[in-house]
Amino acid sequence: MNGSHAPQRLLLDSAALVDNWRWLLRAAGGAACGAAVKADGYGLGASEVTRRLAAAGCRDFFVATWAEADAVASDIGDAAVSVLHGVGPRQIEAALASRARPVLNSADQIARWRQHGRGRPCDVMVDTGMNRLGLTADEACSGLLDGLKIETLMSHLACADEPGHPLNGQQLASFVELKARIPAHRYSLANSAGICLGRDFALDLVRPGLALYGGIPVTEDARQRDAIRPVAAIEAEVVQLRDVPAGASIGYGATFVAPAPLRAAILNIGYADGYLRQLGSVGAAIISGVRLPILGRVSMDLIAVDARAAADLAEGDRVGLDFDLPRLAAETSLTQYELLTTLGRRYERVWA
Ligand SMILES: *Cc1c(COP(=O)(O)O)cnc(C)c1O
Repeated sequence: MNGSHAPQRLLLDSAALVDNWRWLLRAAGGAACGAAVKADGYGLGASEVTRRLAAAGCRDFFVATWAEADAVASDIGDAAVSVLHGVGPRQIEAALASRARPVLNSADQIARWRQHGRGRPCDVMVDTGMNRLGLTADEACSGLLDGLKIETLMSHLACADEPGHPLNGQQLASFVELKARIPAHRYSLANSAGICLGRDFALDLVRPGLALYGGIPVTEDARQRDAIRPVAAIEAEVVQLRDVPAGASIGYGATFVAPAPLRAAILNIGYADGYLRQLGSVGAAIISGVRLPILGRVSMDLIAVDARAAADLAEGDRVGLDFDLPRLAAETSLTQYELLTTLGRRYERVWA
């Protein structure tokens, strides 16, 4: 673990996380609101995220793998965890040793759970048009599921972040048809963006991830922009300050050449921290509201920023970096999901 000497910090806002969950719960209009905490809680720390949401009343957590289920097992109290990738031939032992439920995705997985699961409950994923995980509608209605104890029947939307996309309505209609034919305790379709499509999509249980962590599914939607609060802020440290003469270059590839003499601050954050190279052209440190743009390429562990507007900056100072998810995603090829889930292991994750 990094101690408090860690040069990079993620400053994480518990109140914002919980407020985002509560907003999604209200937006789901009576449906239960779970939380996707896969990929280490979208990079923020699954255990810390899960504990806070469980305390706020979240009862349904979603992870991708059995290792991820184990990682939050002691944080959920008596809430439930579902493992989205289900149970393959190498996971049956882990599944039987776990309190988590598999989300069964294929005929093979269903046969495996029938054979080994000893009547334990499961979730089932049906595919309604994304062609990723899940049974086809025909498979789901073929008798394959007869006698299984299905806690949650779910499907996943392919285009929920494009509210006008025709596939959204088609997937909802297909899922509602399946709901009438396949008995389950609850039915679930919507991720963060799906919740924002309207009450029809919420059914019994919603499964937000991105919006919990401050991502805005549809950035043109003022309601989402106003309601969803940022959760993570990034801080790095000034390792060195240097004066760069006019005509000299900075960094790998010498892509930036100083047009005039300038003062550069070298910060200890780079693409190994998930501060990816695409951020080089749009990223900046921010000191008291003043932007210090990145100069040249992002290195593995370092960036250079233009420190001319921060005369008092000293080596060892902590500096915040712009981590405005929707804006950075709009200005690079990266998604808000990638900006979050690539956040590295070097950060000390500090929850307030
Ligand atoms: C990741 C995931 C979610 C959460 O999606 P967001 O877009 O992050 O809200 C919900 N359901 C399934 C099946 C997922 O894989």
